[in-house]
Amino acid sequence: MSLQENYTQVEERIAAACAKTGRRREEVHLIAVSKTHAAEKVQEVFALGQKAFGENRIAELAEKRSQLDKSIEWHLIGQLQTNKVKLLPQETILHTLDRESLVQKLASHFTSVRPLRCLIQVNCSREPQKSGVSIEDFFSLAEKIAAEKALRVLGLMTMAEHSTEEVAIRQAFADLRKLSQKVKEERLFEGYAGWLSMGMSGDFGYAIQEGATHVRIGSAIFGERTFP
Ligand SMILES: *Cc1c(COP(=O)(O)O)cnc(C)c1O
Repeated sequence: MSLQENYTQVEERIAAACAKTGRRREEVHLIAVSKTHAAEKVQEVFALGQKAFGENRIAELAEKRSQLDKSIEWHLIGQLQTNKVKLLPQETILHTLDRESLVQKLASHFTSVRPLRCLIQVNCSREPQKSGVSIEDFFSLAEKIAAEKALRVLGLMTMAEHSTEEVAIRQAFADLRKLSQKVKEERLFEGYAGWLSMGMSGDFGYAIQEGATHVRIGSAIFGERTFP
C-alpha cells in the first residue's frame, strides 16, 4: 500500500475508534512516528496534511527538522540521555521525562521564559525492562518537576505491554488516565493540559477508547522499519 493509502486508513481507524466511544475526532491528535524513515517520506506525509511527527533519537530528529518545513511540530518519544539535552530544540515536545537526573539537566538548560514542554513517561505495564517512572514513584518525581519553572508539563505518556490481551493493554491505559485525573485534582502543575500520549500501531484503538489525546503511530503509516 502507498503512504497515502496507509495514512487514509489510519485516519479512518482513528475516526472509527472515536465514534465507538462517542468522542469527537478533534480530541485525538495523531503523531506520525517517522523514526528510521527518510526525510522524503516525512515530506510526503506532511504534504497529505500531517503536522506532528515523532522521532525516538534526538540526532535523527534534529537532522530531519533542519531539512523539512519549519511548521512541523516535532515530538521526541524515545529515551533522552542527559548528555544529549543540549541537542534538544526548545520547540520540541518531550514525551519521556522519567527521572530526576533528567529533570535537573533540563531545568539547567531551559528557562522559565522559554520552558520546555514535556510529558512524564509512566511505566503502567510494570514490566521491569520498560522505561518510565513507576506509579509508586510518580508523585515524588512530579513534585521535583513542578518546582522547575523551565519545564512545562502538558501531560503523561505510557507504552502498554506487548500483548494481544485486550484487558491488560486497556488496564495500562486506564491507569494512566486515572493518574492524570489525580494530577488535575491536586493541581500539581501550572498550565497542565491533560495530554494522554498512549497508543501505537498495534493498540491505538484501545488507547482512544481509554481516553488518549495523542496517539503515536509509526508502522501503520510508514510501513515496517528496517534497522540499519
Ligand atoms: C516506535 C514508537 C512508536 C510507534 O510504534 P509503531 O508500532 O510503529 O506504531 C510509538 N511510541 C514509541 C515510544 C515508539 O518508540
